[in-house]
Amino acid sequence: MTVSSPLIPVLGSLHALQVPIPYPMKTVTVLIDAPAHGPVTMIDTALDTPEARAAIEAGLKALGLHWEGVERVIITHHHPDHYGLAGVIEERSGARVTMLDVEIGRGERYWHMLREWLPGHVKHMLDHGLPQEMVQGMRGENEHVHPASRVQPLREGQTLELAGRAWEVLWLPGHADGHLGLWNPEDSLLIAGDAILPRISPNVGLYAYTRPDPLGDYLQTLGKLEALNPARAVVGHHGPLMEGVRARARELRDHHHERLDFMKAETAGEPRSAYELSLAMFSRDLPTSGRRFALAETLAHLEHLRLLGQLYRTWSEKNQVWLYHA
Ligand SMILES: [Zn+2]
Ligand SMILES: [Zn+2]
Repeated sequence: MTVSSPLIPVLGSLHALQVPIPYPMKTVTVLIDAPAHGPVTMIDTALDTPEARAAIEAGLKALGLHWEGVERVIITHHHPDHYGLAGVIEERSGARVTMLDVEIGRGERYWHMLREWLPGHVKHMLDHGLPQEMVQGMRGENEHVHPASRVQPLREGQTLELAGRAWEVLWLPGHADGHLGLWNPEDSLLIAGDAILPRISPNVGLYAYTRPDPLGDYLQTLGKLEALNPARAVVGHHGPLMEGVRARARELRDHHHERLDFMKAETAGEPRSAYELSLAMFSRDLPTSGRRFALAETLAHLEHLRLLGQLYRTWSEKNQVWLYHA
């Protein structure tokens, strides 16, 4: 009986794994590069679950490696499904964990500042109308995430080697403040993480600790991707590879512009809170965590318009909430 290898070839010594995660996307892409010369590198690490550990171990084994063999870890962004096992790998192998400098100062810091940041995080949601009972489950912690103890910075424009080729480090903010991309012009290949996804629109949310205009950031990222026009991209979910990045970037930009128009129409009448507006923008039934994501995404659209001077907000003393209006 032949057991098929879990490794999907990407480019030379660079391979992709589809690692299971307990989210609707079902898998996240983890990349392993085991070149003849140069460090054994893992890009993104999935969440720490027994299933994910087994899947990554199987991938390493197919290359004749084990956890101890990993020398460098590159994280596209701080979200649990990409960062979860980084600390475990660091501890077991002494691997150097790297991220974009912007992400270290923001998203990554979040995992170390949970207790200090949680009250501000909760207040931000309440100030925008989230009902009190919907903040109950917010602990911020995640038992599947083990942040690294030392993360070394990568900088936009820097070059690093992977699969025997030179890759440019890109900053692709929006989905996360310090989202990293790796660009190989020679092969027209982009390692994109969640900056662009083929089937779902990457969540763009405004939280207490994010940059002030994540949607503005994301629209610029989409412009950057459109100009780059990679032949192929390695994506975090529903991949590992996608083509048609330029067309998808345009589609996502249209999608956000439609939502901006919708917000303008919705705020033309009575002033309303971002939470009330999120019920209009995401009218389907959602679990509490989904409602908080919906609020953050609605807020990203509202604040983008407000910073452009196309909407206003007023603090309601009576309801202790921000109200958006034309
Ligand atoms: Zn993400
Ligand atoms: Zn993801």
